Amino acid sequence: MNPPTAHVMSYNDITNDNVLSYFPEIINRVNTASHIAIDLEFTALGNTRSADMAHRYVAMKQTVESAAIVSIGLSIIKPVEPTEPTEPTTPPIKKYQCDNFNFLTLKQGSIVIDSNTGTFLCHHGYSFDSMFTKGIPFTPASPASNVPPRPLLPTEAKPDTRLNQLWKHIIDIMRFKRIPLVLHNGLFDLMYIYHSFIGQLPPNFNMFILKVSLQFPSGIYDTRYLAEKADFKATFLKYVFSKSDRLRQNRAEISTDQRPYFEVNVSPPILQQNSVSGLKRKRQDEAVNNKDVVDNKIQKLGYCPKYAERGYCDLGHKESSKYHDMQVILDHQMGRSKYMSQIPTDDSSHAAYFDAYMTAFSFCYFLNTLSPLVIKSCLNKMLLSGLNHPLTFPIQNPKKA
Ligand SMILES: [Zn+2]
Repeated sequence: MNPPTAHVMSYNDITNDNVLSYFPEIINRVNTASHIAIDLEFTALGNTRSADMAHRYVAMKQTVESAAIVSIGLSIIKPVEPTEPTEPTTPPIKKYQCDNFNFLTLKQGSIVIDSNTGTFLCHHGYSFDSMFTKGIPFTPASPASNVPPRPLLPTEAKPDTRLNQLWKHIIDIMRFKRIPLVLHNGLFDLMYIYHSFIGQLPPNFNMFILKVSLQFPSGIYDTRYLAEKADFKATFLKYVFSKSDRLRQNRAEISTDQRPYFEVNVSPPILQQNSVSGLKRKRQDEAVNNKDVVDNKIQKLGYCPKYAERGYCDLGHKESSKYHDMQVILDHQMGRSKYMSQIPTDDSSHAAYFDAYMTAFSFCYFLNTLSPLVIKSCLNKMLLSGLNHPLTFPIQNPKKA
């Protein structure tokens, strides 16, 4: 058997200039998807640690209504017919085709930007210049949507609804074709999507979870919750993805029906991309000057234990520190791997499309390793920090959907 293939990290960069040409391409792909994953970047997270979900929801709602989505990562996964095994003893290889999209978005009207979040975005290569010049405009449902809209003055342009239309189509297809939505730790993402493209956020939490489950009757999966079910040591996205990929690659030579090997092949960009995108920006300058504060223990260990557990640390390491290298952490936990890592070494590891891809890929891993019963038990459950029980969305009866 051939060694696991190295995957191409390609994606489609969608801006105000090309969104219309992409419209049919995206709709066609959603139509044949087995699952789709979404990850958003937004301008504020708010202070939302309350253990009381009713309170937490109200605080999150205020943030979502005043801040904005600045980019959307969308990964569309489609199963490919399995290829015949090269030897009769090996099971056929499961293959998935994946298309990645990165939307640069520009919310109309005023936008609250949290300074920490804005700094984080800029440090990871997000360009607010590009957002204002190339972002796709969209207008969330007005908080007073039960009041009829004020008639436009003759000089006023009609609000741009292309992005709203596209998302309405995507969500409709997911409903009709019973395609589940996959998120990683995605309550904020869900609230931002709801507010931006579905309608006004319901006034209270119970109403929100009911309405979300009606909008997405095919269900929602949280790869953070799935990772916990699979007994992963940590549940932050980069860890879940890297570990899933290693476990997958280790099966290249010992694949069985119970432990199948699978491949996710990323498609090249669909349309010719000749415009400079919202993601191509200055890059290397920060990563090079990497003065870490390191004590002896960490030097001996070779990696940062805090980062290994949570995906961030307060020990004075830069995020790009060698002590935060996921491959070193996994080498320590799982032994060395002879296969390549898929994690890019530049800032794109924090772009929305790459987070969506990591989520979609990790879900493929869980689909191929957890029993169907366990997968079913994870439907509509989401792991939230500070809560003892997963957040549970009501499951909708397929007949009614
Ligand atoms: Zn650290």
